[in-house]
Amino acid sequence: MAASPRTSLRIAAGTYCMDRNPPETNIAAPRLGIDLGGSKIAGVALAPGGTIVAEHRMAARRHDYAATVRAIVNMVAALEKDAGARGTIGIGMPGSLAPATGLVQNANSTWLNGRAFARDLEAHLGRPVRLANDANCFALSEAVDGAGTGEPSVFGVILGTGCGGGLVFRGSLIDGPLGVGGEWGHNPLPWASEAEHPGPKCWCGRNGCMEVWVSGPGLEADHARAAGERLTSEAIAARAGDGDEEAKATLGRHANRLARGLAHVVNIFDPHVIVLGGGLSNLSHLYKVLPDQIAAYLFASPPRVTIRPPRWGDASGVRGAAWLWGRP
Ligand SMILES: [Zn+2]
Repeated sequence: MAASPRTSLRIAAGTYCMDRNPPETNIAAPRLGIDLGGSKIAGVALAPGGTIVAEHRMAARRHDYAATVRAIVNMVAALEKDAGARGTIGIGMPGSLAPATGLVQNANSTWLNGRAFARDLEAHLGRPVRLANDANCFALSEAVDGAGTGEPSVFGVILGTGCGGGLVFRGSLIDGPLGVGGEWGHNPLPWASEAEHPGPKCWCGRNGCMEVWVSGPGLEADHARAAGERLTSEAIAARAGDGDEEAKATLGRHANRLARGLAHVVNIFDPHVIVLGGGLSNLSHLYKVLPDQIAAYLFASPPRVTIRPPRWGDASGVRGAAWLWGRP
């Protein structure tokens, strides 16, 4: 990363920032990173080298927009009190800010949608904030000083309650005029079989999105349809480890669908490394089986891909948010 705060991170078009080159950015100021989830809000203050100097966690106020804004203001105050300094503020959020309007779009925390979230936060905090999609924060964190360190390009994938993604090229998030760069979770499952078509209904209104197949709930629902039993992803993995044939088959279908979806992205973006995140990144078999299964769908020879587990795991949400202001 470059040394100057003006150039240490080029801000992608879909990443909201009122002042893209703030002249007064203090290079030694702590970088506050806040991860706004559906059920919890996590925050850290990082020293310039990445050491945590303060850390807080609180329950999210669901279905209450004003309370969500207040909770973030309180989180900033708590972090800065413990850090003993005023910091920069980066926030990872579900969905994103539509660059054309500045309003939240695509958030599964639906009470945020259509809200002027950044402007409201800035009004309360009295300074600029930077916001980005939570999967983008994950990808940025792993690219800056995580599993993708030193790699020119990284595709960060979240496989949790949903399915998100973020693209980083030479230290910068790639986003465009719509603010949806890297969002592959609501693309359809590619190379779908007849039995997979049209696929389960997705909350977004379409059928057969990647998310309904490869997220945690997607894997669990697939197992329930095939085996007639509702189990958590962890229980399915444990049973597969014990040799249960139905659980093994479920994980096999899941890995193959994930491979097809990732191959689609590789054929477009050709990342140097793919880093998996979210709860399902703990499924260790994925790192063994995905490279060969993806290769079968690549338009390249030899069709090699590199897949890594995350370095920071859940902490990548807050770390990537903090690095929206650059890592000095
Ligand atoms: Zn969808």
